[in-house]
Amino acid sequence: MEPDTVNVIFFTEEAQENPNFSEMRSVINKSPTLIAMINQLPYDNLISFDAGTGSFALTDESGSVRQIVIDGDLFQNSNYSLPEIATLLGHELGHVELPGGLPDWSTATNPDAAAAIGLQAEAVALVNEYQVAQELGSQMYTDISAGYSLQDELDELTARLGDEPGL
Ligand SMILES: [Zn+2]
Repeated sequence: MEPDTVNVIFFTEEAQENPNFSEMRSVINKSPTLIAMINQLPYDNLISFDAGTGSFALTDESGSVRQIVIDGDLFQNSNYSLPEIATLLGHELGHVELPGGLPDWSTATNPDAAAAIGLQAEAVALVNEYQVAQELGSQMYTDISAGYSLQDELDELTARLGDEPGL
């Protein structure tokens, strides 16, 4: 049986000491996608809120996740709410846990092919970010940071297809 709340062992001690951690955990617990993806991480202490590093996900050579960083500075930035930051966590988890989420550069034979591979991986992460935003009733982090509403387009597409974008 899947646990229905997020297991905090997957966050570093430093992340758990972030003043926003307990509120952030409550937000995460409203997203079944985030709960499932975090609880199936292969190791403890993978998610950190380091400040000033940017947000990213790292894997080892075999594609196994090694680190997920959400920039701790985002918590001090009044542009972003905790649910919006949680959608960014969904984005990074999409990169490391979903098929096609990581770019496979080995198949790129020219710069155009490399660009297409990068965009495809980004699309996988964005759809996961959208899914989390739906569950949290939140705007997507990427929409705010990019100043472009992909979410509106995905809403429209969802309405037209009569279903959620598939994953
Ligand atoms: Zn991305």
